Amino acid sequence: MEMAMRVFCGLALAIAAVSNVSAAESFVGVAAVNQGVMARNTPDYGDFAFTGSAVQGGVLRGRAPDDIVSLQLDGMDVYLAEDRHFLIAFDRDAPNQQRLRIMMRDGRTVDLAIAVAPGKWRLEHINAPIRGNSSSNADFQKRRSAELAQIAAARDVIVESNGWRQNFIWPVTGRYSGSFGAQRIYQGFPGSYHSGADIAAPRGTTFVAPADGVVVLAARAPFTLEGNLLIISHGAGLNSAFLHCDRLDVKVGDVVRQGQALGIVGATGRATGPHMHWGMKWGLHRVSPALFIF
Ligand SMILES: [Zn+2]
Repeated sequence: MEMAMRVFCGLALAIAAVSNVSAAESFVGVAAVNQGVMARNTPDYGDFAFTGSAVQGGVLRGRAPDDIVSLQLDGMDVYLAEDRHFLIAFDRDAPNQQRLRIMMRDGRTVDLAIAVAPGKWRLEHINAPIRGNSSSNADFQKRRSAELAQIAAARDVIVESNGWRQNFIWPVTGRYSGSFGAQRIYQGFPGSYHSGADIAAPRGTTFVAPADGVVVLAARAPFTLEGNLLIISHGAGLNSAFLHCDRLDVKVGDVVRQGQALGIVGATGRATGPHMHWGMKWGLHRVSPALFIF
């Protein structure tokens, strides 16, 4: 059912900055991308062409004019390809306005304000106190911090890949059993939200690469929570993590193509049954995999 809810938003529009930034923090040219509002072109800055959806958890792909040398989204460097294409994405909890700072060849700097629409998350109110962390013993913590360090290091690896330009495909087909962003609220206190898309599939089901990429982590000794964990970088700071795998058929450094078999689904780590948990990040931003599929 959730599969049918995936967002399709192919609006292409031109956004133009409207003036120079004199004060560093001033916003100019509000571009209400998600509402399809088109700002007036200002030839001095040329056109920015965007496709996608400026929504929490969502992604915009864009093409910058030739006189742009670099881009930053709220201080984070944005990868700008030689052909001027780029990608920006919005965290599950992104503020309702983000600033795209544009550095031009002639030294000028322009800010575009991008209105980020709120995501629609499945919230479940539980009339019970929030549970304490049952995994807070010292042994677990030590192991966990080593795992988190490995994950962070893998996600920092910069690879050459154009996977970020592709329309993604589902790594496995099956019932969409857990949606990105879903959250339980315990007597007013929010638990941590669900960080990926869950697809139920029998143990042994082959899963494939949703887009081209390079393997940056292939943990065959199961991690405490993620189990056998595979992370693929798609370039431009975008990566996919596949959790609870039964078996991984690729290794670190392998270049993979969209649709290529990567391993089989399982229930390793903290999982109640066999399923694929597919998580995606752009830099530090957690994003919704379903919004990368068109
Ligand atoms: Zn999950």
